[in-house]
Amino acid sequence: MKINYDLKFKEELEKIQGRPTLLLHVCCGPCSGNVIKELIEYFDITIYYSNSNIYPETEYQRRYQELVHFIEQFNQDYHQNIQVIEKKYEPIPYYLDISFYKNEPEGGKRCYFCYKKRMHDAYLYASLHHFDYWTTVLSVSPHKNSQWINEIGGTYPIDKTQFLFSDFKKNNGYLKSVRFADQYHLYRQNYCGCVYSYKEMLEREKNKEKNKEKK
Ligand code: SF4
Repeated sequence: MKINYDLKFKEELEKIQGRPTLLLHVCCGPCSGNVIKELIEYFDITIYYSNSNIYPETEYQRRYQELVHFIEQFNQDYHQNIQVIEKKYEPIPYYLDISFYKNEPEGGKRCYFCYKKRMHDAYLYASLHHFDYWTTVLSVSPHKNSQWINEIGGTYPIDKTQFLFSDFKKNNGYLKSVRFADQYHLYRQNYCGCVYSYKEMLEREKNKEKNKEKK
């Protein structure tokens, strides 16, 4: 049975007193902008960029630089002091763990383990640095499985830091993110991140070209 994680999120917000700290794992600027804008009402946010899935490294750097630039601008516009923490780019251990599922389509088990790896890094950082809460923006994408993301988050103990259940794609979250990203003229990539999704994107592009030629 599907759990309404958006409802759980709202219930948690109602309990909040003061301004807790939140470590927010983000995959890129476009996905995170509107989520950050909505969360700053409640939390002191620190961004955590842990995305060793991204292929190639030039693309990883491009998304990272775009995010940093966006946050600088956002801090000015919204009078914030949000910091961006980068987890070292380590694609080799990432791919060693994930390659077993390389033939799974996007949305399959490969993605489950990909969420898990990146979220695990975020949890470790949040617990080590005593954040009140931690979560990820991954659920904002319609291609990401919010049930899995929250199930993974819910497996971690809450004595040091608490996972913030959420489903950011609800309440038109994705559309709002796209609009917000456009407002900041953010670069929007055309594939999710890993080498497998990169190849799938190339295949899609090739098929598009073929179809054009047929017309
Ligand atoms: S498609 Fe995206 S979520 Fe799935 S494994 Fe690749 S990078 Fe990770």
